[in-house]
Amino acid sequence: QAKQRGKNNYQLFSQSMGVKTQKSYSIEQDIRKALLHDEFAVYYQPRVDAATGEIVSAEALIRWQHPEKGMIPPGIFIPIAEEAGLITEIGDVVATKVSQQLRQWMNEGAHICPISINVSAQGFLKTDLIMNLVSILETAQISPTLIELEITESSYLNNMGLVIEIIAELKKHGFRIALDDFGTGYSSLTHLRELKIDTLKIDRSFIRNITENKQDEIITSSVIQLAQGLNLKVVAEGVECQDQLELLKEKGCDQIQGYLFSKPVPTQEFEDLLKQGFLQAT
Ligand code: C2E
Ligand code: MG
Ligand code: MG
Ligand code: MG
Repeated sequence: QAKQRGKNNYQLFSQSMGVKTQKSYSIEQDIRKALLHDEFAVYYQPRVDAATGEIVSAEALIRWQHPEKGMIPPGIFIPIAEEAGLITEIGDVVATKVSQQLRQWMNEGAHICPISINVSAQGFLKTDLIMNLVSILETAQISPTLIELEITESSYLNNMGLVIEIIAELKKHGFRIALDDFGTGYSSLTHLRELKIDTLKIDRSFIRNITENKQDEIITSSVIQLAQGLNLKVVAEGVECQDQLELLKEKGCDQIQGYLFSKPVPTQEFEDLLKQGFLQAT
């Protein structure tokens, strides 16, 4: 009887399983294999001082070279990893690779800069987040002051109180906190007052048409002023052309991240950029 029911359930399940679900299921299995076989890499994208082009920091961005399917973008597999409960492991991989890399550069006496790591909303609310990060950094003997954690507005949607506590605890350890993709989520300006963040990253969607669209220009310019008023570093994401850079400088934006200066690059290439110290807009 039970067996019969089980079989029917299975049929029902497989019939209703859409193409997309099947696809995420196979990606989920592949993520597990990728974790086992160390298929993930970290690329680095410089963040430069808007006025001088000096590299002041870099964002660590995960890359997955799938053995058969080629490069799979994080925009595809991160949400699946979140749903499958694999995001903590992925976060640990990134934090481990970043801290080992920083350790190696320091041992070589190389010039380094602080590195930003993305923490997904789910990962941020996990109770072992802080313990994991602290122990990963300790193993590599890297100070948390070299690490900035990028969180998004979705992290604190229903958990404002908890998020305030987690941030306070992280800051006690010396981590810096950035609010990523600002303006795309459920931004509330009172949140900015309550969250003890250090950096505001204006989402690429506002920057894209900043020179043609007056509204985008006004929004961006107001966010820059707001950040300055609250004593936050403000970063423009996705800056691709000189006109955007000029406008952002004029509005007083502190830092720039985007293809205009550099795409995310593999470790060795980033090492070479760090050696130069400054980047030209190209
Ligand atoms: P994000 O954190 O907002 O990262 C910035 C994204 O914008 C990156 O895409 C970067 O390559 C892209 N980008 C930077 N400058 C430009 C530009 O000038 N033009 C354009 N068109 N794009 C630009 P990427 O690497 O594909 O990552 C996408 C998203 O995936 C990230 O958005 C982040 O939310 C997530 N992600 C990436 N790495 C990680 C990770 O290690 N952990 C977690 N949890 N999420 C990650
Ligand atoms: Mg980010
Ligand atoms: Mg972003
Ligand atoms: Mg090297």
